[in-house]
This record gives sequence, C-alpha cells and structure tokens, in this order.
Amino acid sequence: MKLLIKALAFAADKHRNQRRKDVAASRYINHPIALVDVLANEGGLEDERLMVAAVLHDTLEDTQTTERELDKLFGKELVDLVKEVTDDKALPVAERKRLQITHAKTLSRRAKLVKLADKICNLRDMAIAPPAGWGLARRQDYFDWAKQVIDEIRGVHPTLERIFDEAYSRRPTAASPEPH
Ligand code: ZN
Repeated sequence: MKLLIKALAFAADKHRNQRRKDVAASRYINHPIALVDVLANEGGLEDERLMVAAVLHDTLEDTQTTERELDKLFGKELVDLVKEVTDDKALPVAERKRLQITHAKTLSRRAKLVKLADKICNLRDMAIAPPAGWGLARRQDYFDWAKQVIDEIRGVHPTLERIFDEAYSRRPTAASPEPH
C-alpha cells in the first residue's frame, strides 16, 4: 500500500505537465491510474509490485525519469520491470511497434499483465476519444496492432484477455459513429 501511494505521488509529479493525445487533452496521470484500476478491480489482482509497475510504466519512456531514480526509490526489480515495457525511443516508430509484437512473448508475467492493461486502456481511450486528427484507417491500424501484441501473450490472464477482446470489439468501422 505505502509503495503504491509512493509510486502514484512520484508518477503524478513526473507526468504533471503532460497531457494525453485525445482532443480533450486529459491529464496524463489518468492513464497509469486507469491501468491499476483495470488490474485490481477488473482483473482481481492484488500484487502490489505489479500495481507499482503499472503506475510507473511510462515514466522512463515519456518523462525525464532515470533508471537510477527509480532504483533508489523502488528498487532494482521494479526498474527491470519498467524497462521491460519501455520502448527504445531511439528507434523509428514502425520498428518500435514491430518489436513490441516480437518481444511480447519473452516478457515476464508481470510485464505481460502491465502490457495487457495498457492495451485495454489505450483501446478504450481510442474508441471514445482518439487523438486529434486520427482518421479511421489509422485508428483501425492501432486496434489491429494492439491485438497482434496481445495475441502473443495469451494464456497469462484469461479474464483480462476477455476484457481486451471486448475493448477490441469496439474497433471503429466506416459505419461507426464519429467520436466526439
Ligand atoms: Zn501506457
């Protein structure tokens, strides 16, 4: 509990000036909090280290946070876990997306669970409030790519996988109403 609260305070501080890409530009911290909510309340999981990893999962990739800082506050095991779900930003986006698919099955159980919750939350956001300017094809590609990643890790948590499939079933089509 204490570690989780520490992680929430840390992530809230690190993401404080960031907004999500949706049109409403929601506060970034809503996203890691949504992951923890999915894992705990929809997945029935109680593993505090997993929750801490979920809260911190975007800090290395999207903020100035260093591995050293995370290590000092949360320990090496946690750093390794966050690194597992961190893309190498030096690579082009297409390559990063390809690597997420090929690396997915090599992830630890906790990293797979973070990945599952991340994709569930991202698809839900994408269905309701996609980033400004994303046309239908781009949104569809995003759904399909997320499914390719999750298809590589199936068997880790059937309930969350079913919840992912529900989120995927809202893949936009030409017939769906335009969001907003
Ligand atoms: Zn994320």
